[in-house]
Amino acid sequence: MSAFEIVPVRAFSDNYIWTLRDSTRAAVVDPGDARPVIEYLDRQKLELVAILNTHHHADHVGGNAALLARWRVPVFGPHDPRIPDVTQRVGNGDRITLPHFGTEFEVMEIPGHTKTHIAFHGAGALFCGDTLFAVGCGRLFEGTPKQMHESLERLARVPDPTRVYCGHEYTLSNIRFAKAVEPANATLLALEARAAKQREQDLPTLPTDVGQEKATNPFLRVREPQVIASASRYAGKSLNDPVSVLAAIREWKNSF
Ligand SMILES: [Zn+2]
Repeated sequence: MSAFEIVPVRAFSDNYIWTLRDSTRAAVVDPGDARPVIEYLDRQKLELVAILNTHHHADHVGGNAALLARWRVPVFGPHDPRIPDVTQRVGNGDRITLPHFGTEFEVMEIPGHTKTHIAFHGAGALFCGDTLFAVGCGRLFEGTPKQMHESLERLARVPDPTRVYCGHEYTLSNIRFAKAVEPANATLLALEARAAKQREQDLPTLPTDVGQEKATNPFLRVREPQVIASASRYAGKSLNDPVSVLAAIREWKNSF
């Protein structure tokens, strides 16, 4: 297995196309736009060896076709015909090995944002698309609160130091909402100071890690008394199960 680093290629206003690379090759996760990827690979003199897709949204797969026109590489993605470019469809527990790098990833099915959303977990990294964000979670376009809760619980069970590579730079606005839910969370306040400084310098706040998310992300903290109390206040009734708490704060955040 060759050593690699993981760098963000920016796309659209706030997408990150995470790029695993060594000195000669690269693999990309969720290339919503081919242009910035091609610019980066050409500038760095890298050949593409694989594409990974977490879900079917255009801002995650829109660049597949143009990249494939230039590099004939495998595309690993979910069992979902809405991503026609996928060459290797994968589901829960499947393992993939990245060409050239030899790195192995385990596939996790994490429905909620979409019904066929998957994550790739391996080499101390988690690529989770639009399901888990730093201090937030994706909107429930196709799934239920119960599905999202179960998906987030599964992601939270990977080891705490695992670096989490999310699809968007949403951290500061997510923190603003999380503070409304948990105003006295000291870890959250410290993170806000750090993230604000990074954004001032136009640096990504990602990756985050699983341990930090468990300490700051209200959608992973639906069993905490303060989160339950805030969700209950928003809902106007006493909520006593994690799925109802998640449903309430997800709805609250949509209008925050
Ligand atoms: Zn999405």
